[in-house]
Amino acid sequence: MLSHAHIDHSGGLPIFYTTGNPPLFGTSATLALTELLISDMLRISGKYLPFEAQELGRMMHYSTPLDYDKWMRANSFRFKLLNAGHIPGSSLILLECNGKRILYTGDFNDLDTALLTGASLFEQELDAVIIESTYSQKLRSDRQKIELQLIKATENILEENGTICIPAFSVGRSQEIMCILTKHAVDAHIIVDGMARAVNQIITANLDFIRDYNLFLNAIKKIHSVRNKKDRDRALSMPSVIIAPAGMLTGGSVKYYIKKLYDDPSNGLFFVSFQIEGTPGARIVETGQFQYKKKFVDIEAQIKHFELSSHADRTGLLELLKNIQGSPKVFCMHGDKGSCSIFAQETIENLGLDAVAPSVGDTFKI
Ligand SMILES: [Zn+2]
Repeated sequence: MLSHAHIDHSGGLPIFYTTGNPPLFGTSATLALTELLISDMLRISGKYLPFEAQELGRMMHYSTPLDYDKWMRANSFRFKLLNAGHIPGSSLILLECNGKRILYTGDFNDLDTALLTGASLFEQELDAVIIESTYSQKLRSDRQKIELQLIKATENILEENGTICIPAFSVGRSQEIMCILTKHAVDAHIIVDGMARAVNQIITANLDFIRDYNLFLNAIKKIHSVRNKKDRDRALSMPSVIIAPAGMLTGGSVKYYIKKLYDDPSNGLFFVSFQIEGTPGARIVETGQFQYKKKFVDIEAQIKHFELSSHADRTGLLELLKNIQGSPKVFCMHGDKGSCSIFAQETIENLGLDAVAPSVGDTFKI
């Protein structure tokens, strides 16, 4: 059962198909986006991976798309997927087996965004919860406020005939930015580069997973897709908003745009996601510099950071646990630098639940 398409959740799945043909379940959006992301990973770094396109093909062949809130059976399991509000198609997974009920949250966001409805609250009795811990030690700023700041900053640059470059992940964040710009009727030439185009097609075929599909379809109508260098240069010849991967500048076409825009203070470079330490994006946010022709150069364009998270923060994570009935055992996973173990400790102290941050290879009996 796959919670969502992000490669840190889905990328290893084809390995199972080197030795067998297990069934795979996920929403139709998750399965289509997963195929796209893993195909891209194979294209870029196929020779380093322990599987080939053939295994991915078999995985898709043995996959079954499921709707939200519909029970499904496989062997001795009964399970269903619930909206997780993280990216299109993302799911919480509720599993029943041998009279026990387990909730696996995957990555989730409890709040509504321009693109998605927040995760389904869960209020039934459970025996165990496997919960993500990404922002267990963080409180988010008011999302509406951040959206308005982003719009204001964008309009300021456009009024000065500047161009704004927004590095964004192709799945989720690019569409969120498109929807925010459309919702606020930003009058601009909007460009979307990279894999976001293919992602947009997949989402258009899976509109049930979108909060407001009219807004999404209007956003799609408004944008211009970029396919090659000629399109990129045309986009750069007029004041535009350019949405391009990768979100942390670890690859993708965004570097091409930055090289063209960095030395003019009337342009903007707007980050819209958390920048992991050590990435080129984090370096720019910290120092205002980026690597160009083996040298670090100062960016004259206006650098701004708007954190539009797609994960629940500390309040959202605790809220999910508080709403659950019974006294489930809690497994805190998927976080860095102690955020899992501190969150487990806090769950014990604040909620009186038995909690643990498991290590790789640990096994537990429910
Ligand atoms: Zn994710």
